[in-house]
Amino acid sequence: EWVDFVVFYDRIIDRLEMSKQQNVTFKRMLPNRAIFVEIDEDKMTQVLYNIISNALKYSPEGGQVTFSLKDKDDKIIVSVSDEGVGIPKESIGKIFDRFYRVDKARTRKLGGTGLGLAIAKEMVKCHGGNIWATSREGKGTTISFSLPFDHTEEDDWS
Ligand code: ATP
Ligand code: MG
Repeated sequence: EWVDFVVFYDRIIDRLEMSKQQNVTFKRMLPNRAIFVEIDEDKMTQVLYNIISNALKYSPEGGQVTFSLKDKDDKIIVSVSDEGVGIPKESIGKIFDRFYRVDKARTRKLGGTGLGLAIAKEMVKCHGGNIWATSREGKGTTISFSLPFDHTEEDDWS
């Protein structure tokens, strides 16, 4: 369906902000105009949930999670940044692989199967987008994904 991604994203952030158990603050950097994209809402909810739950899981006490959304020519870019443990350089290319988890000892106590990002990648791909990570160990991580965005479609709405 066609949805205003700004509203869609904002609602998902709301839901996770209300249910979170961690002492983490949320910061939103969202455009104040509509951006219509064609998505499967259930799949995209899962993508965002998997990324945001990691940001919460790997955040330190009192950390901040920043949500941003930008449009660039023919795509939108959605990012979730945290101030958590980060991901070592040699692991960054593997975190989207099934069952891959950085440092088993470190992550064991946090639970999980290592499937969250593999599922997110599959679902972003089936929307015609890409997903990637940037990180600095000990500083934090940003997970971003793109979705195709057609300005001409947007013009039809105005
Ligand atoms: P699951 O999502 O299946 O519950 P998981 O969170 O371990 O388990 P993924 O979401 O696929 O699995 O993430 C893979 C690995 O990437 C994680 O185990 C963790 O080591 C690393 N990782 C993912 N997101 C972050 C993040 N925001 N900060 C630090 N490490 C991360
Ligand atoms: Mg996960």
